[in-house]
Amino acid sequence: MSARSGIGYDSHRFAEGRRLLLGGVEIPHDRGLLGHSDADVLLHAIADALLGAAALGDLGTHFPSDDPAFAGADSLRLLREIATHVRSRGYAISSVDATVVCEAPRLGPYVARMRESIGSALGTGPEAISVKAKTNEGLGDTGTGQAISALAAVLITR
Ligand code: MG
Repeated sequence: MSARSGIGYDSHRFAEGRRLLLGGVEIPHDRGLLGHSDADVLLHAIADALLGAAALGDLGTHFPSDDPAFAGADSLRLLREIATHVRSRGYAISSVDATVVCEAPRLGPYVARMRESIGSALGTGPEAISVKAKTNEGLGDTGTGQAISALAAVLITR
């Protein structure tokens, strides 16, 4: 068996009048994240980590942000497509470990639903998915509530 790891990172700024979607879960908040798609920063980091592990490029190559076909796109659908692409190369998705850096809102109450949603999109079940949430201690763009960023590490095996 051969194992390969991948890392992913993404960041989106907050904007008025947008829904806040993280890990495919809608979270009540006074603002959402700005982006061409639904701006689900956590799913984007995981998608990039999967593509990186399989050396299949990055999210922007597969779903260009200037392509009208992906305006407002459901990132769960994009993640499912990427998981299918990775599996078509003979890989199984073994684990995902992700961190969301976010000053507000508090994400703890939503982590279980995010793990369910991501595990369902990837076909792994929630036990293979770890989602952690932390603040940036008030520092920088995430710490002052201007943006949310996410990091992900994945392991795939063949
Ligand atoms: Mg993104």
